[in-house]
Amino acid sequence: MKHFSHSKKFISLLLSVAVAMTMTLSTVMTPLAAASVSDLRQKLQEQQAALEKVNQQLKETQSDKADAQALKTQLEQQKSLLLSQIGTLTEQIGGLDNDIVNKQDEINQKQQEVDQKQAEYDQRWADFKDRMRAMQRLNDGGSIALLSSATNLYQLLTFATTLEQIVSKDEEICQQLEDEHTQLEQQRAELEQAKADLEAKKADYEAQKAALNSKTSELAENISQTDESISKAEAEEQALKEAQIEANKKVDEAAKELDAALNAANQAYGNASIQCSLDFGRPLATYKYVSCYFGGNGHRGTDYAAPGGTEIYAVSGGVVTAAAYHYSWGYYVQVYHGKDDNGNSYSTLYAHMNSAPIVSVGSSVSKGQTLGYVGSTGNSTGNHLHLEMKVNNVLVNVMNYLS
Ligand SMILES: [Zn+2]
Repeated sequence: MKHFSHSKKFISLLLSVAVAMTMTLSTVMTPLAAASVSDLRQKLQEQQAALEKVNQQLKETQSDKADAQALKTQLEQQKSLLLSQIGTLTEQIGGLDNDIVNKQDEINQKQQEVDQKQAEYDQRWADFKDRMRAMQRLNDGGSIALLSSATNLYQLLTFATTLEQIVSKDEEICQQLEDEHTQLEQQRAELEQAKADLEAKKADYEAQKAALNSKTSELAENISQTDESISKAEAEEQALKEAQIEANKKVDEAAKELDAALNAANQAYGNASIQCSLDFGRPLATYKYVSCYFGGNGHRGTDYAAPGGTEIYAVSGGVVTAAAYHYSWGYYVQVYHGKDDNGNSYSTLYAHMNSAPIVSVGSSVSKGQTLGYVGSTGNSTGNHLHLEMKVNNVLVNVMNYLS
């Protein structure tokens, strides 16, 4: 189990603090030290909570930013699709414009043919009318004279037949011209219809293009709004990262202060000149396995997995210098074991007890004496004993000292 987030830096800083403590706090009184430890524990807990809050806010902001970025990507894909559709429509409209121009050319061509046919017809009709008028005059005034001017019957008959034939031929040609004219008009009407169809199609495409353009503008607006959201989230993220650095600093400071106070508590009892035998015993009668070793991922101690309620023993005799609750350690006990022949001081700390320690600050304990019971209080995911050891107020691997 990890107990402080910045343990390595913490441990190195602890060294200097420990030296300072040795020189300046050698006369700290027990009650004062206990009150200070309790206050500092509270302070650390508050700083840790403040840091957690900042971390959570940062996570949310980063999640918001990721959402906005995903949305922007999606909007840009839509916009790109629309622009491609608009491009296709523009091409199609260009094609239709061409078709319409061509159709108009055909119509103009057809109109010329119609006009030409009309002129032919008009001419033919005028000629016909002239002839009819001539014949009329012949009938009215001079037909007899004309007929009588014929030198013989054959000539007379031929003349009449020729007149009839001319009239008949004129009628036939006029009819044919009229038919051709009608047909040309029909063709022109069909061309006009085809052109109208093309224009309707173009209008439809123009309407679609206008709708797509409007949708594209809308998307561009949405993208711009999303960009604003991303910028805002980035600014928040930056601010929160700065706040996070500050909060981390405060947690580090609070943790340092607490550890220094715990060391000071040991120091206060150190004056009692307890002799440490260095004959350390086991902290538990039995345990299942070591679930986490010292130093791994900044781990301050050694974790022994054991059933809840297993008795926790003092590994050596000494004085209880802390017995309390800590947000991370849960219920814990610190024991100061005194100094060895070389003047090195020793202390141990037992964490995650299932309930309040059964020993109190200031009481003497003997090696193997029960301090409390295995539990999972504080920052723990299962029943285990978290055991720390300090030599000269510096954390060491307790497994190197236990028999
Ligand atoms: Zn642990």
